Amino acid sequence: MSSRSSASSPDIDALARDLRASSRAALARAITLVESRRADHQAAARELVQALLPQTGHAIRVGITGSPGVGKSTTIDALGMYLIAHGHKVAVLAVDPSSARTGGSILGDKTRMARLAHADHAFIRPSPASGTLGGVAAKTREAMLLCEAAGFDIILVETVGIGQSETAVCDMTDFFLALMLPGGGDELQGIKKGLVELADMIAINKADGDNLKRANITAADYRGALHLLAPRSEHWHPPVVTYSAMTGKGIAELWQKIIEHRKAMTASGEFAQRRREQQVKWMWSMLEQRLMARLRTDAAIRGKVRKLEAEVAGGHIAPAVAAEQLAEMLQ
Ligand code: GDP
Repeated sequence: MSSRSSASSPDIDALARDLRASSRAALARAITLVESRRADHQAAARELVQALLPQTGHAIRVGITGSPGVGKSTTIDALGMYLIAHGHKVAVLAVDPSSARTGGSILGDKTRMARLAHADHAFIRPSPASGTLGGVAAKTREAMLLCEAAGFDIILVETVGIGQSETAVCDMTDFFLALMLPGGGDELQGIKKGLVELADMIAINKADGDNLKRANITAADYRGALHLLAPRSEHWHPPVVTYSAMTGKGIAELWQKIIEHRKAMTASGEFAQRRREQQVKWMWSMLEQRLMARLRTDAAIRGKVRKLEAEVAGGHIAPAVAAEQLAEMLQ
């Protein structure tokens, strides 16, 4: 596009071409470019994503959350293999700004999803290891677009069960799936209202062996809890299902619900609306990222920030006045 970016990154056209041709190596390189903090890489990444935009948007984007040990990786492995057997191409991404498993532990994720890791029609990428949740989420969103352009028609975005990252993943996906464990009768006291409100479906995993009965009781409890909440959409009442990622029982039904949701949302127009709203939200979040990055990296601004912080802390200058002075420097 611009002469500046084509001069600094002459391989963008080739990268876009290889990626459209479903080259996994090109996809991996493109995501690395998106994740890079270097300004020239970021400019190149923007150009790449813009060039690929027409090839994006067609995938089913599913967010999956649940506490550690609930069975996220086992579920993604089972669901992914099921989808591949039905002719799909599945990309698995993660948003996990906190975990020790970030920092590029591809190996970790590959052992976590043992079968999928070796499947030709799967692509697994761990969470970007960037600091802030906003940064991690932004990179994952772009990685998702790259996966779509490379021909992956189902994107599974995994996150651990901590509040903020769940909202971020919900904001970038079409369907948000909350995984739960079979519990005792009073388990629901631990229900996180916020999460249940975000979920398009609650799925109780490990409904096998001795757990079966408890799983059914837990499902009934969640159904009761959901009845008390106003549904997010008049066209979709989040179902509660039980399944076993280990045996695979219920995986097909689980996916069927996701397809039903897609159909209902498309028919009502909510699907297109949710995507549009996500795009705009995304723009604002990128803008926020960029402004915050400038606040952190611009030496003059940083100096001023430190000075003003001290003055605000000492009560010498009103926070509003300090904010105004900094805002002026951003122009
Ligand atoms: P994650 O931390 O959420 O990714 O959870 P994992 O997928 O690593 O699973 C945690 C543990 O639960 C592992 O020991 C799995 O073997 C076990 N597990 C996962 N799914 C099932 C299931 O459907 N049934 C049973 N019985 N165990 C399961």
